[in-house]
Amino acid sequence: MAIFDPKQKVIAGYQKSIDDKKNSIKKYYDEIGRMYYGQYKDMNLDVTKDINTRCDAVSTLYDEIDDLNIKILHEKGLKLCPKCRTENALTYAFCFKCGSRFDDPDAVIDEAAISGAPVAAPAAPAVPEPIEETVAEEETPAPEVAPATEDAPAEEEA
Ligand SMILES: [Zn+2]
Repeated sequence: MAIFDPKQKVIAGYQKSIDDKKNSIKKYYDEIGRMYYGQYKDMNLDVTKDINTRCDAVSTLYDEIDDLNIKILHEKGLKLCPKCRTENALTYAFCFKCGSRFDDPDAVIDEAAISGAPVAAPAAPAVPEPIEETVAEEETPAPEVAPATEDAPAEEEA
């Protein structure tokens, strides 16, 4: 049987949020594609603005996914080097790979802070609502296959 420690639960929450955001991104891409095609078929249509708002939304979602991935790393006691993206322990002041300095408060070895560190609350799934525009199609895209989880959390055996 699987033993769930609170950390695993928090990570699962983040992962779920990431999956939701990935699905939203797919939906936006779908809409962008249909809009672009609509413009291709009818040169009088100008959907540039509609496409741009969706591109903005996608960018925001990618940023939020990055943030969530960083939070997941934090739960695992890791952080990414801002320069080379190598995973380092939270307590490292310098990247062990490229030597870049970490400018964050975690980069100080402080036993008290480590043991009593407040766990970051899971981010509310802030999925921006799909923008309703005049070009909205009647058909809703069929739900797609959920993206394969790259690294399923290993279950700890007691
Ligand atoms: Zn580095």
